[in-house]
Amino acid sequence: MKAVQFGEHGDRDVIEYGEFPDPDPAADEVLVDVKAGALNHLDVWTRKGLPGVDLEMPHIPGSDAAGVVEAVGEDVTRFEPGDRVTVTAGVSCGECEFCRDGDPTLCYRFNILGEHQRGVHAEQAAVPEENLVPVPEGVDWEVAGSASLVFGTAWRMLQTRADVEAGEKVLVLGASGGVGHAAVQIADHAGCEVFATASSEEKLRYAEECGADHVIDYESDDFADEVAEITGRRGVDVVVDHVGKETYPDSLKSLARGGRVVTCGATTGPNPGAGLDRIFWNQLSVIGSTMATPGEVDDVLELVWDGTFEPRIREVLPMSEAARAHELLEDRQGFGKVVVKPDSEF
Ligand SMILES: [Zn+2]
Repeated sequence: MKAVQFGEHGDRDVIEYGEFPDPDPAADEVLVDVKAGALNHLDVWTRKGLPGVDLEMPHIPGSDAAGVVEAVGEDVTRFEPGDRVTVTAGVSCGECEFCRDGDPTLCYRFNILGEHQRGVHAEQAAVPEENLVPVPEGVDWEVAGSASLVFGTAWRMLQTRADVEAGEKVLVLGASGGVGHAAVQIADHAGCEVFATASSEEKLRYAEECGADHVIDYESDDFADEVAEITGRRGVDVVVDHVGKETYPDSLKSLARGGRVVTCGATTGPNPGAGLDRIFWNQLSVIGSTMATPGEVDDVLELVWDGTFEPRIREVLPMSEAARAHELLEDRQGFGKVVVKPDSEF
């Protein structure tokens, strides 16, 4: 089969699309003919190399993909050849205290398909049964292959970790990114008053289409000042921050008394000042969140399949242009998900 792959970490030119040994599914695995799969920022991090993550080379990237079941291992019970499926990338041990307690995202051995082990951007992928979710007829492959990671992540952040309630004010930073545009839709659907930041007029208009009530251009305005002005100096109840060091001080500043910031990443750096003075005086909470449980993924994908939520597809490229897909992510142009498809499906 053909697969997107790289034999060493580095710049975009390490990415190739070429022959790779056909996957041989284990007893608990499903062989999937991949139709389409989105990229995520972690594909860029993985290509560049992450501290403490030692990959088996060559590595196949990709945490999101959807396709058709080609064959199943002997222990697989939920799927059969011909079924339409999408991948959910979180892998857990199933045995530790957190797995047994029902929250595999806290697993001691938690890892992500495509990041810590071979991913799914190939003509075929052997995926553990528990990492697949059925996709109904009528859902486009591009949509089916783009929703799981970002909508799952944003759903857990808002529904489980921040536990948002209707009427609360929620600020989503970087609303043009994958998690951002999902968070805007989820907060709007939860009945929240949604504030969103983005960096251009076009992205701000799209954030409004996704459900933002107030949009702030972070290139030209200080977003904490804007939030203070719009809310009459009260601030918002929740900030969704995946930007990190660059935004964290203003995220704390944007919060109302008793507010909470929920983070799922730190693209611009992991170690801003803690801001303890603001945290204790205003009684703020800083909440971490990673990926989503299978149940959370099921819940949010139901709402993608019925059209309540819509992953925006920015661009669809053949897998042979995976390097170009990385360039689109790194340049932060445009809105929504970049999708690749096997060249044979193009
Ligand atoms: Zn575990």
